[in-house]
Amino acid sequence: MNIRLNISLRRPGKIIIVLMLILTGSIFTINTVLSAAQYDQGENPLNKIQASPQYKDGRFTNPRILEMSPSFGMIKKYLFGKEQRSPEEALPQQQIDLNLLESADSSYLKVTNAGHSSLLIHMDGYRILTDPVYEAKISPVGPTRFHDEIPIDPTELRDIDVVVISHNHYDHLNKYSIKTIHSEVTRFIVPLGVGAQLEKWGVPREKVTELDWWDSYDFDEKLTITSTPSQHFSGRGLTDRNKTLWTSYVIATLDHNIYFSGDSGYFDGFKTIGEKYGPFDIAFMECGAYNLEWAEVHMFPEETVQASLDLKAHYVWPIHWGTFNLALHDWFDPMKRVTLAAEANGVRLLTPIFGQVVEYPGRMQTEKWWAPYLPETTPEPLAGSTPQLDTP
Ligand SMILES: [Zn+2]
Ligand SMILES: [Zn+2]
Repeated sequence: MNIRLNISLRRPGKIIIVLMLILTGSIFTINTVLSAAQYDQGENPLNKIQASPQYKDGRFTNPRILEMSPSFGMIKKYLFGKEQRSPEEALPQQQIDLNLLESADSSYLKVTNAGHSSLLIHMDGYRILTDPVYEAKISPVGPTRFHDEIPIDPTELRDIDVVVISHNHYDHLNKYSIKTIHSEVTRFIVPLGVGAQLEKWGVPREKVTELDWWDSYDFDEKLTITSTPSQHFSGRGLTDRNKTLWTSYVIATLDHNIYFSGDSGYFDGFKTIGEKYGPFDIAFMECGAYNLEWAEVHMFPEETVQASLDLKAHYVWPIHWGTFNLALHDWFDPMKRVTLAAEANGVRLLTPIFGQVVEYPGRMQTEKWWAPYLPETTPEPLAGSTPQLDTP
């Protein structure tokens, strides 16, 4: 979610942002507004957007209407809350060694996370990036990264087969990163309407494929990427709310099958995706921007675990945490809760240090590396701070 709230802002800055929230009833930042309608050529003409079952009255919609207006209580909590929303000291991470992601085998799956939802996936010879964000500051008034260094120099990336973008929020679609890497990328897979933004940043139109939910793109006879639903929203400016689609992805080769959640609230779509495309070797699951005020567009950690069960994931890799301050909870709260929920439900988690390469099914040992960085006393989750799940 692109919640542009930065606790390092001084109080007047905070008040201005809060006034923006009140005036608009939504959470956003000011930037160039780009209409999906501008992307009307290439292999995905405008009529594909208009024909989408998700597109109504000029905007994309979720299957059901969601409530997302911030309340006074949330604004008060934002201004005066005592949570430790950013770590007090630098968190550990490893500089990514691209050589470690390569393999002489024809069948392998190696993954590392450059922070947040920016995965580098090497899978049966294919190099795939998800939501590449390799910049410290992600929007004009947004938060900066917890880490001083970014664990990858994007100018070193070579011969990337596919970049998938889940949606256009600033923490998932980054101008600097796209401009830096696009000459090394064969194919960008994006949700309907997002192509125009890439084209504006210099990506040749013929390199971009826009997908609607349930559309598949065959990169070749061995790699297929399918857009699957998520329950979220989009927008980068004042007037482009939901003008482009949001999505999750199933990425499948002959030997491996993985799921990338993008951003999503918990919804029954996970079960449908699991039935159609599961089981998954690894599900990379959003876990860390939640609040009861926007519970329908971001999952609570317990919901991340339930969604992973719905998807029939063999391993679950929580993403979207530990990099940016995007919500009102403690920075460590996602890991504290997701590990408890996973243990209670027999779900196997992968929690590597950022930059650490995990190999499936070989080198999968990961640690609760955040534990030494917790405050001496950490609060228990507040009663009633988690929505009731529809499913057991
Ligand atoms: Zn996000
Ligand atoms: Zn988002």
